[in-house]
Amino acid sequence: MADDPADPHRAGLLAGRTILAVFAHPDDESLACGGTLARAADAGAKVVLLCATRGESGSISDLSLVPDGDLGRVRVRELAEAAAVLGLAEVTILDHHDGDLRWANVPQLHEEIVLAIRRYRPDAVITFGNDGLYWHLDHIGIHERTFTAVLSLGADAPPLYYVTMAQGLMRAVVEAAHAKGGAPPDSSFWGIEPDAFGDAAEPPTFTIDVRDWASRKLAALRCHRTQMGPHNPFAWIDESDARRYLGTEQFRRAPIDTSGDAVLERLGEPVRERKQA
Ligand SMILES: [Zn+2]
Repeated sequence: MADDPADPHRAGLLAGRTILAVFAHPDDESLACGGTLARAADAGAKVVLLCATRGESGSISDLSLVPDGDLGRVRVRELAEAAAVLGLAEVTILDHHDGDLRWANVPQLHEEIVLAIRRYRPDAVITFGNDGLYWHLDHIGIHERTFTAVLSLGADAPPLYYVTMAQGLMRAVVEAAHAKGGAPPDSSFWGIEPDAFGDAAEPPTFTIDVRDWASRKLAALRCHRTQMGPHNPFAWIDESDARRYLGTEQFRRAPIDTSGDAVLERLGEPVRERKQA
């Protein structure tokens, strides 16, 4: 039934809802949960991104992309393109320094996140888990500040969700890229060992099926051209690989007592706790 209110694929399921994603760098949104953001937007949600830095300390895949050396300016443009691919309604980029998020201007970042929540009144907030995806200190910093910002709102706090990555997923992407003849042995994801992704993630409490949005997730990742050199495994995989490896995103609800209704869970499937034998 096309209009069955219980159908999780129903268009308009999240009509009138707002989702706020809070991340550290341009490309975090696409890598961590681009599929969910696109799916939520398609379901009628207003999806807003707050990005704390311009990512000016990142790598540069091709120097000709940054002729004047201002990587931050180029990455702001790349983020706008990725946001359009994902269907985001608004992107706000803060003025923090890439690399300093965990210890510089901490009260300011806290306050900016609080203000964004007051302004957009989101039904759900998404950020990294305490593993920072691969122990990235900026990611851990944005996790900490988003947690304290949401917590400080007390009974008015929206539900907060941590997005993590399944361990082994990035290794599988590397192998898929090898099968296509790409990703030579010295290739990497931004210099990071594939097995580091998700290595310390707490288990998710629900997953969201984004197979039908995986090609948009891959396209959004590729908008971040300065971060996507020819040896990046994401440059080599095709849409069926994307569907297979990027088609599930996983979340854990933060341990904050909120009155808000479980908006994001509506798109997902609960994960049963695995009992120890
Ligand atoms: Zn990042």
